[in-house]
Amino acid sequence: MAASTHTVTNQPPPLVGYDVYTADHALTEGVERHLDAALLDEARVELSELGRAAGSAQAQEWGVLANENSPVLHTHDRYGHRVDEVAFHPAWDRLLGHAVSAGLNTAWSRPGGHLRRAAGFLVWTQAEAGHGCPLSMTHAAVPALRRDPELAAFWEPLLTSRTYDPGLRPAAEKAGVLFGMGMTEKQGGSDVRANTTRAEPLAEAGTYLLTGHKWFCSAPMSDAFLVLAQAPDGLSCFLVPRVLQDGTRNPFALQRLKDKLGNRSNASGEVEFDGTWARRIGDEGRGVRTIIDMVAATRLDCVLGSAATMRQAVAQATHHAAHRSAFGGLLADKPLMRNVLADLALESEAATTLALRLAAAYDDGSEAEQAFLRIAVPVAKYWVTKRCTAVAAEALECLGGNGYVEESGMPRLLRESPLNSLWEGSGNVQALDVLRAIGREPAALNAFLSEVGLARGADHRLDGAIKQLLTELADLDGIEARARRLVERMALILQGSLLLRFAPPEVADAFCASRLGGDWGHAFGTLPHTLDLGSVVERATPVV
Ligand SMILES: Cc1cc2nc3c(=O)[nH]c(=O)nc-3n(C[C@H](O)[C@H](O)[C@H](O)COP(=O)(O)OP(=O)(O)OC[C@H]3O[C@@H](n4cnc5c(N)ncnc54)[C@H](O)[C@@H]3O)c2cc1C
Repeated sequence: MAASTHTVTNQPPPLVGYDVYTADHALTEGVERHLDAALLDEARVELSELGRAAGSAQAQEWGVLANENSPVLHTHDRYGHRVDEVAFHPAWDRLLGHAVSAGLNTAWSRPGGHLRRAAGFLVWTQAEAGHGCPLSMTHAAVPALRRDPELAAFWEPLLTSRTYDPGLRPAAEKAGVLFGMGMTEKQGGSDVRANTTRAEPLAEAGTYLLTGHKWFCSAPMSDAFLVLAQAPDGLSCFLVPRVLQDGTRNPFALQRLKDKLGNRSNASGEVEFDGTWARRIGDEGRGVRTIIDMVAATRLDCVLGSAATMRQAVAQATHHAAHRSAFGGLLADKPLMRNVLADLALESEAATTLALRLAAAYDDGSEAEQAFLRIAVPVAKYWVTKRCTAVAAEALECLGGNGYVEESGMPRLLRESPLNSLWEGSGNVQALDVLRAIGREPAALNAFLSEVGLARGADHRLDGAIKQLLTELADLDGIEARARRLVERMALILQGSLLLRFAPPEVADAFCASRLGGDWGHAFGTLPHTLDLGSVVERATPVV
């Protein structure tokens, strides 16, 4: 019989066996708000099913296993032939397979598809974030491919398939495919004009051989990649399949896998092209123009991914505080802890609300909404992804020492957090992109101002912030060095306006008082004490 030195008390139960979707009020209300009424019944059932799967012990175990057992690169077979394959733990395939069967690899094949996928992505990637990468790239490749109807006719049904069919085989023999992208090279990532990979035209129109490298190439076991390379008339976009139609392997030499801070379930490789067959998409010299459609879609996914990470962090923190006592009472009832949790909850709700608004704009597709997206996506990508690391770190501390220990799951969330701010254009690049939109596309700024104007008059702090923004926009002195401040203000105004229109009054009030009214400190937990913080925390606490 084991020695019994003490009874374990006051340790919260694990947050497991709950519906990640219905437990998230900001998310469920957003879906009800934006989705066409005719689609709601089906969407509710679908998302709740996904929510229960995401909150299950099984999915949590897959998340742990896929990250503890990082992918392994096999460059050669036992006889010395190049194979360039990456072996994943079966948990990776389970996660990806479940996501593809839920349609998280595409928003293009049904009405309300962007919103439904966004909500699903927000739910499911809370179980594990790394496999969101190939889901995003596969989803995002479609608009770029559509620039070539012949290519789209062949590939789109495979990209939008709900069958996960891993393994390197000719695409024509597969029931579904995944896509990746290759832009970043050693000498330049943000500045893709520095790409040196060469594309030599072949006799058959539109086909080329590539020679060069990519310094980061994630999900390298995907079936095909959109790649930038220098053609005779300039930087162009190409489709590079891993396996050619006749079944032979396209040269795709994986040199190494990156040893990454987080995102450890996912593989990110360094790849070399040497006579690699490629098919051009769009015109020569128009590569950035072509691939930018893919990049815009992945940027929205960065916002969704960060919103998901923040929501999971806040769910864990509020759950812990609702069950753990110290100094004679529940942590959740301690005024200072309540302030911290409420502050985190505001950040999470603002991120979710903004992300869903963007997804709904994609579904709408009107010119006005496209103009709005042109500026609101980089604004959101800059701000929401930046907030993620701060939220994850503070939420971790809410669990005390337990939060610093791997088995709580919080370290994994923290390690994952900086990534969405970095890839698909890092913080400065987003801020500069917003300036570009402001300078060159007046319709984009007008659409942004119309959107935030919908909440004008609802709160004097929002009105004051909009006024200040207009003053700052009119002053071009040092605008590049001021870009982060400007974009931060735009993000906060947009989030504040959405919360004023759609969130419960206590949430909007606390957001406006702190983020727009300036009654706030430099760390979380510095909200004015007179606010209704208890209601904000209660709303964010998952009911298991
Ligand atoms: C895990 C992981 C996976 C990735 N997967 C892929 C992938 O699959 N495919 C792919 O193509 N890429 C991928 N990337 C690459 C990623 O997109 C780039 O690392 C990123 O875009 C930054 O480019 P860079 O590393 O060359 O940095 P740089 O471009 O050198 O930038 C360095 C810093 O300078 C800043 N900066 C750049 N220009 C300016 C400026 N004009 N003014 C002020 N600041 C500036 C940037 O914001 C950044 O902070 C991946 C990266 C990571 C970490």
